Amino acid sequence: MVKARRYVVKKQFSGLPKRDDFEIVEQELPPLKNGEILVKAEWVSVDPYQRAYNSRYPVPYNQFSFQVAVVKDSKDPQYPIGTRVVSHKGWCDYCIIDTTGGSLNPTDKPYKLPPLNNLSPSLGVGAVGMPGATAYFGLLELCKPKAGETLVVTGAAGAVGSLVGQIGKIKGCKVIGFAGDDAKVKWLEEIGFDKAINYKTADISAALQKAAPKGVDMYFDNVGGEISSLIINQMREFGRVAVCGSISSYNEDPNKTPKATILQPALVFKQLKIEGFLVWRWIDRWPEAFAQIIKWINSGELKPREHVTEGFDKIYDAFVGMLNGENVGKAVVKM
Ligand code: NAP
Repeated sequence: MVKARRYVVKKQFSGLPKRDDFEIVEQELPPLKNGEILVKAEWVSVDPYQRAYNSRYPVPYNQFSFQVAVVKDSKDPQYPIGTRVVSHKGWCDYCIIDTTGGSLNPTDKPYKLPPLNNLSPSLGVGAVGMPGATAYFGLLELCKPKAGETLVVTGAAGAVGSLVGQIGKIKGCKVIGFAGDDAKVKWLEEIGFDKAINYKTADISAALQKAAPKGVDMYFDNVGGEISSLIINQMREFGRVAVCGSISSYNEDPNKTPKATILQPALVFKQLKIEGFLVWRWIDRWPEAFAQIIKWINSGELKPREHVTEGFDKIYDAFVGMLNGENVGKAVVKM
């Protein structure tokens, strides 16, 4: 019998999630049935969507997220012991996975970690996982970057944003990133962003005007709110906006979300295209993104960075730390 621990959300979040909103539940796992595998988590992800999706789930629920785990016992010959598996089982140390997914929800279907050779398996929840696919498809499919164009990305030093900016550079664009502290700004310029700006201290419009005097062709929006209105108001004709997330309001009271400057004049007069997306749209094509991203990492063109917290007991701290902007690159927990 294996004893497993997992985080259960027992109270709906209000504002920044509190430790007390979670309960750690211990349970002896039952014997495996055919088509099931027992896995031990190695890397667990903490992501903004866990905060954003909270209000959709009645409590109590198991805290979902992606994790990379190793098969310890198997009743599915496709997943022998030792196989590394990416699943959406979330914040738990051991768990049983039904390898068929057990439902129609695409997130429930586990898959084998792509071969990473000498790269860290942690990339399976980052650059070679859901955030990598988000950056890849959001930028390439919606913004359709062309060499010489100017791309702006917010949340630029985070998991998705730092990949978006680097892929923009690979595509020959001029890339401007906004991030929340000077150390992040310095790192972004080190990895090739043409300009990085601290949105907490700069005059956003003036700094952007200086960095992109001819205007912005593409905006990859990770944060929403007023900064997005300011950026969209500096776009060039036929600019493209990919709306990926709006983390600036995830901890706000949903009945009192902040107001921002209206966008319609810029959308109309500049004939802009603005499109929201969910990365699940391209789930069948994720392997294509992963193969390309692995190639870019191996060639040195893409440098994924991780912000590692250690220990099952520290997952909550890693989560809140990420929401507070403590992470540079992908926030992950090493189990
Ligand atoms: P991340 O950027 O690694 O981490 C979150 C970052 O958000 C923090 O480091 C912080 O950086 C920033 N932040 C926090 N509060 C903020 C605020 N009030 N204003 C501006 N920035 C703030 O997270 P991620 O996983 O890459 O996710 C980035 C965005 O993509 C999120 O909005 C997420 O929901 C979205 N997303 C969407 C999809 C999709 O399918 N559409 C998939 C994945 C992620 P600073 O220090 O710079 O403030």
